[in-house]
Amino acid sequence: MSAAIIDGKAIAADLRARVTAEVARLSAAHALTPGIAVVLVGNDPASEIYVRTKTRQVVETGMRLFDHRLPASAGEDELLALVARLNADPAVHGILVQLPLPPQIDAQKVIAALDPSKDVDGFHPLNAGRLARGLPGLVPCTPLGCIILAKTVRPSLVGLDAVVIGRSNIVGKPLAQLLIAESATVTIAHTKTRDLPTLCRSKDLLFAAMGRPEMVKRDWIKPGATVIDVGINRVTTADGKSRVVGDVAFEEARTVAGAITPVPGGVGPMTIACLLVNTLRAACAARGLAAPSV
Ligand code: NAP
Repeated sequence: MSAAIIDGKAIAADLRARVTAEVARLSAAHALTPGIAVVLVGNDPASEIYVRTKTRQVVETGMRLFDHRLPASAGEDELLALVARLNADPAVHGILVQLPLPPQIDAQKVIAALDPSKDVDGFHPLNAGRLARGLPGLVPCTPLGCIILAKTVRPSLVGLDAVVIGRSNIVGKPLAQLLIAESATVTIAHTKTRDLPTLCRSKDLLFAAMGRPEMVKRDWIKPGATVIDVGINRVTTADGKSRVVGDVAFEEARTVAGAITPVPGGVGPMTIACLLVNTLRAACAARGLAAPSV
């Protein structure tokens, strides 16, 4: 058996195309151009790459981009003052503060300072609480992308047994909440979980989000299961070259799974596409318009 490959790159491109069409419609019908502010503090190389990709895709959809760069030496007060200005700016519907922040800045304080209705990363405690309560709000982008990908092969997740490996606030926990909202039965695993391979082997859906290169092996996977790999790990191969792998041993896992996401080209592209969806939703909500059907 060879798993179907869930092509996150193509699915994300399709989602971006629908966002682009919706941006054009909002502009024509309501004179509304969704705007997102992207804030990068310092020059962490990985963050610079992420921000470059995000800003390019924002511009391609026709949204307005407000690009803010602060030096690595910027103080917490300086960043909080910028957040306050962006909160007050009606042209800005979404605010993304790229993490991690330099050590002198408390990321939690900055996240808490965001206007929750502009928190397109879905990290604000109010949005996390709304998700936990099953209320509408802005949902973290990576978990949202994972659900969209899983539903491309399993349109209904109702009653399925799911395991989420990882309990971080940005991936594992919100993903588990979204799965509960889909009426899946969810187990959240972490470093203290006993006998993880056996636990995973009975699950219809396996989400790997622990940041451990190729940890999920073939014999962890129930035959026919849907495997969504969130991990992004840079490893050095025997020939000294560097490559990116996921948290799942892809080549062996694909021989038993029913469907699987590759790394790269799986969850990664969906994260940015979902950021665009969230910005669109935030812009519509700010104007009192119905949520877009992208
Ligand atoms: P994180 O904050 O480091 O959390 C990792 C979680 O995995 C923790 O809950 C940890 O358990 C658990 N874990 C670690 N090792 C484990 C093990 N051996 N067995 C069981 N559980 C284990 O990481 P994160 O921010 O959630 O990110 C997870 C991965 O996803 C990383 O590779 C990251 O690069 C990737 N990621 C990708 C995207 C994307 O767009 N594709 C977005 C975000 C993150 P404890 O709580 O017990 O420590």
